[in-house]
Amino acid sequence: MNWQAEAEKRRAELTGQLQRLIAIPSVLSEETSEQAPFGKEVRRALDWVLEEGERQGYRVKNVANVAGHLEIGEGKELFGILGHVDVVPAGSGWKHDPFGGAIEGNKLFGRGAIDDKGPTIAAWTALNMVKDSGLTFDKRVRLIVGTDEESGFRCVEKYFQEEEMPGAAFAPDADFPLINAEKGIAGLKFSVDEIGADDALVSFHSGERTNMVPDVATAVVDNSRDWQEAFAVFRDVQGLEGSIDVQDETATLVIRGKSAHAMEPDAGVNAGIHLATFLAQQLDGAGGAFSRFIADHFSGDSRGRALGLAYADEESGDTTLNLGIMRYVRGSHAYGEVSLRYSITYPFADKLEALKTAGITYEITSNSEPHYVDGDDPFVRTLQKAYEDNTGERAELLAIGGGTYARVLDKGVAFGMLFPGEPDVAHQADEFVDIDNLVKATAIYAQAISEWACKK
Ligand SMILES: [Zn+2]
Repeated sequence: MNWQAEAEKRRAELTGQLQRLIAIPSVLSEETSEQAPFGKEVRRALDWVLEEGERQGYRVKNVANVAGHLEIGEGKELFGILGHVDVVPAGSGWKHDPFGGAIEGNKLFGRGAIDDKGPTIAAWTALNMVKDSGLTFDKRVRLIVGTDEESGFRCVEKYFQEEEMPGAAFAPDADFPLINAEKGIAGLKFSVDEIGADDALVSFHSGERTNMVPDVATAVVDNSRDWQEAFAVFRDVQGLEGSIDVQDETATLVIRGKSAHAMEPDAGVNAGIHLATFLAQQLDGAGGAFSRFIADHFSGDSRGRALGLAYADEESGDTTLNLGIMRYVRGSHAYGEVSLRYSITYPFADKLEALKTAGITYEITSNSEPHYVDGDDPFVRTLQKAYEDNTGERAELLAIGGGTYARVLDKGVAFGMLFPGEPDVAHQADEFVDIDNLVKATAIYAQAISEWACKK
């Protein structure tokens, strides 16, 4: 079967269906009901998929109004494809109507075009192609559609409480070629107990979320000494942007860095760590202890070496730490919050126990375990081959520090739909999908489905 030629024939169907789905503004709403737990537009997107699917001859099911599936084929084994039809809010700055689905040249614009309505339509169309090809399924195949991927996965949690877990599945909600390893993601909150005492630091504030590198840090210090010269020297030696504003009683120090995703802290410049490193040289007392804790354990060290948390493995590379939130208020509290992205084989309990033994005060605020499917698994091999046959490129296996939708599956990998080198416009203004790539991905998915789920 020449899946590329088949997919090419469906180009207009692909863009047409995608435009219809994009036209439904399926953003999480505050106005909810039992019939529409995430709002009526989200429910409308789910209904649209199920009604279309039923019309096309699938066995369809709505699961608690939060997810659903289209099923086809026969057999004991279940194969799954997991996409989602909820989208993040449009936000501002669009040149195109975020729910208009405008086509300009090779691009189709709209919220959800690449995350995840476009990939869901591609996988669905691929399933239609296999269904219409005359091949016979020897597995049951389900296109599972969630409606709460963007705000907590409540959809698939509920779905898999009630429904069968597929023996193997892919989620077209990330990158090609194929992601088979996702690190564990834990939240750690470190407290510095020394409070009070002689102390010039009034407050320190940097970062809002543990999953981002903070790009600004602000400290308020007593004006009991001249900060200006020392601060200027530090800033210039480090090559940082920053400012100092001296008032009557206090001075406000600001350092600017560069934001980046927590999965690679070294791609950013952590403003908070830099400012704390400066203060560590200047302060005594509780403010000094807080600043030194940060400087000693995080300065120039995103791998957790100073904390004894460092680890790497072949499957997924380095464990990383992003100190994303730093807070200090004199006489009140002093803490830092970290997103720990730990390797697949990380000895989590031992590492965290050793930290306690070292006398460091912390709590684990969250923990999502690593997700891994063996690279030699026949399912992974089948997907790799489909990618290679249709692109002529090697299907390298990817390990990432983030989490994808595939995490909820027992044997699930992320498979597309962003091709290597494509810009990631998910969640941004003027989100679009490259139409040629939409067609190409459809061919890849069709081959993968036919080779995994049809009689030879
Ligand atoms: Zn997504």
